[in-house]
Amino acid sequence: VAAACLTLAATHLLVWIRRRRDVSHLFLALSAVGAAVVAGCELAIMKAQTPDQQAMAIDIVLTFLFVVTGTLIVFLRVYLNAGRAWLMWAAIAGRLVPTVLNFVIEPSLHYTFDGPIYQINFLGETISGLNGRQNIWSLFGPLSVLLMIAFVTDVMVTVWRRGEARRALVICGGMLLFMIIATAHSMLVFRGVLEMPFLVSVSYLAIVMAMTYEVSSDMIRSAQLCEDLNRSQGELLESERRMDLASRAVGLGMWLWDLRSGEVWMSPVARSLFGVPQETPMHIDGVNTKIHPDDRQIVREAIKTAVRDREEYHCDFRIQPSDTEMRWLAGRGRVDFAADGEPRHMLGVSIDITARRQAEAEAARRREELTHLSRVTMLGELAGSLAHELNQPLAAILNNAEAARRFLSQEDTNLDEVRAILDDIVSDDKRAGEVIRGLRLLLRKGELDKQPTQINSVIGEVLKLMRGDLLNRGVTVVTSLDDGLPMVLVDHVQMQQVLLNLITNACDAMCDPRARGRQLTITTRCVENEEVVVSVVDQGCGIDPEMLVQVFESFYTTKDKGMGLGLAVCRTIVTAHGGKLWAQNNEGRGASFSVALPVNGKTGHNGNQ
Ligand code: ADP
Repeated sequence: VAAACLTLAATHLLVWIRRRRDVSHLFLALSAVGAAVVAGCELAIMKAQTPDQQAMAIDIVLTFLFVVTGTLIVFLRVYLNAGRAWLMWAAIAGRLVPTVLNFVIEPSLHYTFDGPIYQINFLGETISGLNGRQNIWSLFGPLSVLLMIAFVTDVMVTVWRRGEARRALVICGGMLLFMIIATAHSMLVFRGVLEMPFLVSVSYLAIVMAMTYEVSSDMIRSAQLCEDLNRSQGELLESERRMDLASRAVGLGMWLWDLRSGEVWMSPVARSLFGVPQETPMHIDGVNTKIHPDDRQIVREAIKTAVRDREEYHCDFRIQPSDTEMRWLAGRGRVDFAADGEPRHMLGVSIDITARRQAEAEAARRREELTHLSRVTMLGELAGSLAHELNQPLAAILNNAEAARRFLSQEDTNLDEVRAILDDIVSDDKRAGEVIRGLRLLLRKGELDKQPTQINSVIGEVLKLMRGDLLNRGVTVVTSLDDGLPMVLVDHVQMQQVLLNLITNACDAMCDPRARGRQLTITTRCVENEEVVVSVVDQGCGIDPEMLVQVFESFYTTKDKGMGLGLAVCRTIVTAHGGKLWAQNNEGRGASFSVALPVNGKTGHNGNQ
């Protein structure tokens, strides 16, 4: 018994030395040591030759029983975190009193030896039995046991109610059972009812073992948890490694911004994207200085919106890692909110989109060039009628100038006549000037310049420019323009180009032998105050229904000298304005082309229609 107790004591002591916070192990070790001493004393009682030797051994047993029970009580309270404190102290005091009294009362509190030692037979061995009777003071023993039972029961009920029934049964139930057995056994031996050695240490060994069993199952559980933790840590590391690999492969930088402290964590890729040194702690102010000054406001607004509307954060902006470098980054992220609704973190990713931006800029430049080229080509086609447009006022100016010269060579010059002639010359010159100005504007090459524009006036200008051509071809124009149209945000020249193209195509279609008439109708209307729709309706040959979509493709043409770029360019222009352009056949004959443009300030279509 002593060996088993000491082994347990050593084990618990070792655990406690390693984990000082687990004082329950210390108490368990102390009670196991106490039980070992008790077992040793019991052996001494069995081997004693005189009653004095037995009395001394019994005194030591009683002292160490205090150590065993006292530490067990404290263990229960510390380990199970249950039981009333006053009951605990009462149970300890109940055990302390007989222990102290035992030293005061002579020869022993419990026992008076009546005569010499006698021998008894136990399990085939001859050992010394106890020859005497119990003192009245020995009732202190059962009394202290009652206090202990009360405390242990209190602990057991609490633990049971907490839902830990097994624990309550093993620890508290085991302790109660063996405590009762030990008390009953010692009473019966002292009273001489049982002729066997004094053996309470066995019961205490059982109690310590029951507790060790429970404590070790806790240790097994924590070892299991440890294993699980290790495994999931391993998995976490692995997934982090994969993520790092993937993010490096695509140049994706990850970041986390603590909105309260302003501290920013960045993955190595993100650090190199933002041009910040690796490993140094980052603050949001430091990150801000890297953003291009012109884009800081956009980024601030995007963050504000993400926090306010709890939406995804997305923003494209420029970064200036150094004075000579500049790159475009696309940022995507989201905000984490605390339970109280306060924004806590913002986490997201950034990717370098410089190459994409450059390609987009290059594509836009080429589109611009193509648009300009197609405009110049179209004007080339109109050159004949434009020459006529210019010829007319020039001829009129010449005629009028000659007439004026004639008048002036007469003797009595009528100055009023001359003045009227000069007025005519001025107005003819103005007309020619307007034609040239319009042409110059169209031939101009420049970036998209969107201005709030009244579309009806653009239609007027185009019709003026095409007057000669329309006359030549015998096309009559009917307009039905809505006077109350809202403004649209457009590039004036490009809108002229679209209308020029649509009207030229309509004229071409109406010069086709299959055409029914030569009346061109231009209408404007506003739809739900959201968009302005311009329709160019002709009485031409119409479009093969299967080709209604194809006509917008580049290089699609049915004309001998056609390039098949006009409508493709028109669609690009309209799409760039957030509008849409589509074709349909009229009910009778001919086709209609319509342009829908978003009303100034409203979001429009994505095009592609
Ligand atoms: P192009 O005028 O050089 O052929 P476009 O892109 O302007 O190039 O037009 C492509 C084709 O669409 C034309 O060749 C014609 O077949 C058809 N198309 C365009 N407008 C009309 C229209 N109003 N009526 C009938 N067909 C049309």
